[in-house]
Amino acid sequence: MSTKTSTKRFGPRYGRSLKNKFSLIETQQRAKHKCPYCNKDGVKRVALGIWQCRKCDSKFAGKAYSI
Ligand SMILES: [Zn+2]
Repeated sequence: MSTKTSTKRFGPRYGRSLKNKFSLIETQQRAKHKCPYCNKDGVKRVALGIWQCRKCDSKFAGKAYSI
């Protein structure tokens, strides 16, 4: 599995530690999340803290960057 994430668009004025932090968040966002209702990996973040399952169509609140 590739863990490559682009940090180029954040520009050079951001420090390395911040880039790493963003990479980590992006990795978490892109990772598949399991739905607590149907238990399938179909959950997508639709807004900050709002997640939606594409399999059973349920919407629920979670943390900003992970469920
Ligand atoms: Zn579901």
